[in-house]
Amino acid sequence: MIEKEAMYKLTYGLFVVTTKDGEKHNGCIVNTVSMLTDDPKRIVLFVNKANYTNELVLKTKMFNVSVLTESAPFEIFQRYGFSSGRDKDKFEGTRYEVSANGLRYLPDHTNAVLSAKVVDALDYGTHTLFVAEVTEAKTLSQEKSVTYEYYQNHIKPKPQAAAKADAPTEKGKGKWVCKICGYVYEGEELPDDFICPWCKHPAEDFERVQ
Ligand code: FE
Repeated sequence: MIEKEAMYKLTYGLFVVTTKDGEKHNGCIVNTVSMLTDDPKRIVLFVNKANYTNELVLKTKMFNVSVLTESAPFEIFQRYGFSSGRDKDKFEGTRYEVSANGLRYLPDHTNAVLSAKVVDALDYGTHTLFVAEVTEAKTLSQEKSVTYEYYQNHIKPKPQAAAKADAPTEKGKGKWVCKICGYVYEGEELPDDFICPWCKHPAEDFERVQ
């Protein structure tokens, strides 16, 4: 038996992975970047293949990892995590800087930036596992790195609050909130195949709040 709850006990950080395609810059939120070997300095990164960033990293073969800190506002997660860069410029109206490899990174609410060159890309069904060599690593601040758990407890809007902030539903209508990002679905029944339009998580990650 595989308990979902047990799988949630693993610890993760949160990062903005940025890359580009020609002049088009893009980035997304990931929770899986780890060091693979110290000498040479190599890291691994897993990206959901549904992400535009996956396509760009496969093509450009390089990326930056901005390590988010506990001061990161929910707005950063919405900007880079809950929309696709296919049809918008995620950097519009925000501050960014450029590292030696020509890619952008986030100078605010981050404590480090790693630049990496892809040496291997393995297809694992829903995700690509990238192995990459670190070409530059820079400390940006001494703030604490944010963990996925901290995001869940302190940054993401609480389901109840998110539901209440919305206009009241019609009488007798149910309300469901995505436990991952706080998106609110209105309706008596949540379809089994429903996919959260913000974070792309399935119906099982929703809970009924009304
Ligand atoms: Fe969601």
